[in-house]
Amino acid sequence: MKYKEAVTARLGTLSKRHKFALLSLSLFTCAILIWEPTHNRHSTSSEPIRGQVKLSSENLQTLADQNSEPVGTIFEPDDPDFNAPKDELDQQIDAQDIVHSHTVASGETLGEIFNQYALPISDMYALLAVNKSAANMRVGVDLEWQQDENGKLIELQIHRNIKDTDVYSWNDGKYSFTQKEEKGEIKPVFLSGRVTSNFYNSARSAGLTPGQIQTLAKQLQWKFDFGKEARKGDKFAVEINKEFIDGKAVSSGDVEAVLYQNGSREITLIKHTDGNYYDVQGRSLNRALERYPTHQRFRISSSFNPYRKHPVTGRISPHNGTDFAAPVGTSVYASGDGVVVRALHHPLAGNYVVIKHGREYMTRYLHLSKILVKKGQKVSMGDKIALSGNTGRSTGPHLHYELIKNGRAVNSMKVPLPQASPVKESERAKFKQQARLTIDALRDQV
Ligand SMILES: [Zn+2]
Repeated sequence: MKYKEAVTARLGTLSKRHKFALLSLSLFTCAILIWEPTHNRHSTSSEPIRGQVKLSSENLQTLADQNSEPVGTIFEPDDPDFNAPKDELDQQIDAQDIVHSHTVASGETLGEIFNQYALPISDMYALLAVNKSAANMRVGVDLEWQQDENGKLIELQIHRNIKDTDVYSWNDGKYSFTQKEEKGEIKPVFLSGRVTSNFYNSARSAGLTPGQIQTLAKQLQWKFDFGKEARKGDKFAVEINKEFIDGKAVSSGDVEAVLYQNGSREITLIKHTDGNYYDVQGRSLNRALERYPTHQRFRISSSFNPYRKHPVTGRISPHNGTDFAAPVGTSVYASGDGVVVRALHHPLAGNYVVIKHGREYMTRYLHLSKILVKKGQKVSMGDKIALSGNTGRSTGPHLHYELIKNGRAVNSMKVPLPQASPVKESERAKFKQQARLTIDALRDQV
């Protein structure tokens, strides 16, 4: 009571102006407490319209936002359980550093690209500290990089245009920055050989670099398996565009065309002016991968996040895949042509399937209720391989889907996927005419 009296007495001593200020402040505070921000509701109406997935009411209850693996569950990307066994060519190529690449899409930032390929963000800041221009990304700029076995970025090349390339190299504990300028005369060089022991060794003896062999094996991956199908006596010829300055070769050069004779079968590869490779008929050598492993579009309950932190330990606990809030029993389809390399049960992953697509790509499907394929089985894009579920370590029904490119988990929802379009109709006749001349020239070499 004493306190209340003291306050009243003190209020009485205040000037009229002070009392008015105090009253205004009190009213303003009340108004803020009562006010409800109704205009926020309008902002959600600008979201894109998505296809509705019909779910029964019991499904709705189980498909909670947090349906995923518990944070802290790490599917180690290098776990042999989840990887396709390496064949001879894989090991020979692995011995050399694999070059990863990306073409900048509209509006993409360096940070987004690092995120897509799970490149260490600390390396990005180190690059920017050396040269801020690393952040200047424009549509169509080509990036090429190499990582060491721990994922550290050891070289990044930013091909600004045909002539200029920025190079960041990791040496003696720091990045250095250099600029390369292309100049010189480009001339075709023909290399040819015959398979004696295996293709890799024969191609090396013929003068091809490991990088060129990698390009060749990668471009023909859907057509021909050099690791398994190459036979003693097979013949090949390759056209390389080398750059010469004063008669000296200054680059190992790009593969322009390939003719490979496997018995009576001829495999052809020709680079078009659009930068892509086609066969002599102008058909694409890529078999595209689908973006989604289901027909319906399910809500993503947990996105790909290489930097996800455990809420308690604070340790980085990456989420290497995309989780779709799919009800138990949803049909799961192969994202592309390939071979089933794993179809098993695992305490964390539950029932899971791993498919190897050519040389570069692999997809993983986890927490399945039912597996419909067997190890070693060849599958085509769109084949039903499983039913989704809630097996293994999981907080609710969902499909965990992963895309692995060159042995590293990448964001399957964002990275560019191999395209399968042929040479443009308007350019096809001219392409085929030129391609036939090129292949005839190669045939003279074998
Ligand atoms: Zn997941």
